[in-house]
Amino acid sequence: MYIGLLWKLRSLSQDAPATMGILASDDRFNALLDAAVDGIFVISSAGIIEVANEAVERMLGYSREELIGHNIKLLMPSPDREQHDDYLRRHLETGHTSIIGTGREVSAQKKSGEQLQIYLSVGKYEHESNVKFVGILQDLSSLKQVRENLQRAEEEIRDLVNRLAHSSRVGVMGEMAASIAHEVNQPLTAISLYAQAAARLVGDDPDADGDVVSSLQKINDQALRAGDIIHSLRTWIREQDTQREESECNALIQSVVEIVSMEARNNDVEIELDLEPKLPTIVCDPVQIQQVTLNLIKNAIDALAEQDETGSGETRKVRVSSRHSGADRIQVTVQDRGPGVAPEAKEKLFDTFFTTKAAGMGMGLAICRTIIQAHGGTLDFRDNPDGGASFYFVLPTSVAGP
Ligand code: ADP
Repeated sequence: MYIGLLWKLRSLSQDAPATMGILASDDRFNALLDAAVDGIFVISSAGIIEVANEAVERMLGYSREELIGHNIKLLMPSPDREQHDDYLRRHLETGHTSIIGTGREVSAQKKSGEQLQIYLSVGKYEHESNVKFVGILQDLSSLKQVRENLQRAEEEIRDLVNRLAHSSRVGVMGEMAASIAHEVNQPLTAISLYAQAAARLVGDDPDADGDVVSSLQKINDQALRAGDIIHSLRTWIREQDTQREESECNALIQSVVEIVSMEARNNDVEIELDLEPKLPTIVCDPVQIQQVTLNLIKNAIDALAEQDETGSGETRKVRVSSRHSGADRIQVTVQDRGPGVAPEAKEKLFDTFFTTKAAGMGMGLAICRTIIQAHGGTLDFRDNPDGGASFYFVLPTSVAGP
């Protein structure tokens, strides 16, 4: 479009010094010039504005009357404003140029005094020995806005991933503490019982050493204390970082799918969303629910990655769906067409440290179930009739605090 424009300007600015503006007789050309989103102007070899379109007025806040017949340096901030006449003179004498035919990002000065970031392209043409320059201004502020929004979105995703990683560490610690508490509590109880029995036996002996009795009492106290410490550690970790808020379940799912999409692509897996619109909100710790969803999707991708690489179409899909379930529940299901859960694994799937993966930790599902139960919900799985597994959690649509 701009090539045709240049040609037209060539004939137009021939008359421009006389008319100092766009020729009213050429309505079609006026319309074309003013329809352009970008600012377009023509200046003489002395830098005097001969043509300016509506976009220039819009971008810089001057009316055409305030522009036509004035030096283009009016639209430039310092130091270009002071130096522009020299640039032009030098260019006409030596042919030296740094912008003509290339274009670059510069600042323009608005009438209000503000500066506007623009991309300026400059062309040169000659008509009857008169050199003219045509400039095209592209407003970069909306582009800048898009860039900033993109940057903000990237930062939000990074922050989310950090929070998920942190929350996952807290979850792992909680589960480890739970499992340690369970494993260690029995020997600790035994120590305490033996210490009490020994203290009784020794205490019955009139010749017994008083120090031995009090030492046995101390062993008993310390064993009980160790149990309390582990118990309170678990409670403390559980209470950390849980922030309940009203959340849109579908939005949580979508943000997780964004995070995991790269891993899916790398494994040649497609994630298909089947989200019921207008689901009621849930009151939850959004990061924890995202963590659960992330875990289930990652497990499904792992299951497909195990599968024969030649699988295609439906067999390389993970389907994530959300549904209203009953009057006041929602169900989120992650379905895959992988090998499914081995019969011998079914009973142990949600146990801490149970894994069938070479590099697995066996903590994921245990943590997920703890989180969902803490939200008043349930997490379970079923075999798909046509192969693979479906893991699903059900949450109440409104949950009181923990
Ligand atoms: P990890 O992923 O570290 O093994 P998890 O607790 O998340 O720990 O999973 C435990 C086990 O459950 C896995 O090792 C795997 O055997 C089984 N499992 C989980 N998800 C699936 C699935 N979608 N299909 C088949 N088996 C699964």
